[in-house]
Amino acid sequence: MNEYDSSTMASLLSSQYQMVRSPEDADLIIVNTCSIRHKAEHKLYSLIGRFKGYKKKRPGLRIAVSGCVAQQEGERLFKRMPYLDLVFGPHRLPQLLQELEQGAENLLDTAMHEDFKIPSVYRKDGCPDPVRGFVTIMQGCNNFCTYCIVPYVRGREISRSAMDILHEIGDLVELGVRDITLLGQNVNSYGKGAGDVVGFAQLLRMIDKEYPGIRLRFTTSHPKDISREVMECFGSLDTLCEHLHLPVQAGSNKVLKRMNRHYTREDYLEKVHFLRQVSPEIALTTDLICGFPGETHKDFLDTLSLVEEVRYHQAFAFKYSPRPGTAAARFACQVDDGTKSQRLTLLLGLLNRIGFQEMRNLEGTVQEVLVERVHSGQPGMLQGRTRGNHVVNFPGVPEMVGSFLDVEIVRACNHSLVGRLSEAVDPAREMRGKMAGQSVLKEDVSYEDSSNVCACDNP
Ligand code: SAH
Ligand code: SF4
Repeated sequence: MNEYDSSTMASLLSSQYQMVRSPEDADLIIVNTCSIRHKAEHKLYSLIGRFKGYKKKRPGLRIAVSGCVAQQEGERLFKRMPYLDLVFGPHRLPQLLQELEQGAENLLDTAMHEDFKIPSVYRKDGCPDPVRGFVTIMQGCNNFCTYCIVPYVRGREISRSAMDILHEIGDLVELGVRDITLLGQNVNSYGKGAGDVVGFAQLLRMIDKEYPGIRLRFTTSHPKDISREVMECFGSLDTLCEHLHLPVQAGSNKVLKRMNRHYTREDYLEKVHFLRQVSPEIALTTDLICGFPGETHKDFLDTLSLVEEVRYHQAFAFKYSPRPGTAAARFACQVDDGTKSQRLTLLLGLLNRIGFQEMRNLEGTVQEVLVERVHSGQPGMLQGRTRGNHVVNFPGVPEMVGSFLDVEIVRACNHSLVGRLSEAVDPAREMRGKMAGQSVLKEDVSYEDSSNVCACDNP
């Protein structure tokens, strides 16, 4: 989401500024921040400390802080770092820079405007990734999970108009982007309360109909809000990839209740069961928190058993981090850091073991891979992604970037797969390759056998 916001800001500024490769060469540095956990917030302070030194060499340099830490800390950031020029929320960037140019100092603009609309920035001037793109469909959150700072720093839910979304996807497709992720803190609430007649399932169907040659994904889904209608889309829409990020957070009903998640372990498992009925191949990923206030060893074991039951392909697991102003930060029975660390280590061990087993189950299968880039560390290798969102490294030529190819999975590594171009050519895949504008036939390529090559980061 922050990457998307950063590229939107870059677009907004593209007529006035040019991107530079190193912050040392910049006239304007914007640090776009995250405050979801303390560690993310802490990174800001060390980074800005470094940039402060550049001001001596380039006296005209402006340093700005945007995003959630800006929202959360506001004025306090100037007290801590008086050399900052601008602290701003998601709005009014070009106007604010103009005010700075006119001599304003220590400019603060973090107010949430009721009538704020997500800007329609059609990135005609290029997007950071030539193959994958992100499109915000809503901002903010109405849920108030007790651990989470998002509703305080990002405000209430606002949905974007379906027409704006379709336009932005159209522009990305024109630029060659083929794998599009719809973004929102809870995409299942899309359209609610906005007077918009389009709901999330309908939006998915509209995109599928309008752009049949793409891959579609979305994140994030709150388990309480994902409807049967949306889940059924995994079985009925060709563009919708067999991958769903469905953050569960914990496996104990007591903890889920204290987190204010509004679903039980049983509700969650029932949805997983239904998803696997409509889309048997679906790869599920999740987020988990350990050491939430009041979490006992037994509660933690419930999380482990849920992980065993669902068998996630990948997961993000975090130690609970108290965030200012949230309800859980005030709960008694905070879990000590040593216990949180121990639980996190155990949880990560289990997740890695299961994730690796799930990857091994793909060995010998043929997967449709969308080629994203030439592998940065391995000459002659390409990197792409399956519909299930698994990264695959395989030998090929740079002209294949942007194509859909059939790749046989030769070997699973911890976080990626090694493959080789498949012998069998599927006419449907070939067609999708053509729609991507770059039909590449296997015969055009010479490559060495990859069965013993591991190009992933974690051999
Ligand atoms: N809107 C998404 C989550 C956004 S935050 C959803 O509801 O699923 C991304 C993840 O950060 C969360 O899923 C949660 O696992 C984690 N997270 C949020 N607040 C946290 C905190 N205070 N401590 C630890 N992890 C947290
Ligand atoms: Fe935070 Fe997601 Fe809960 Fe909203 S739904 S409060 S963003 S965890």
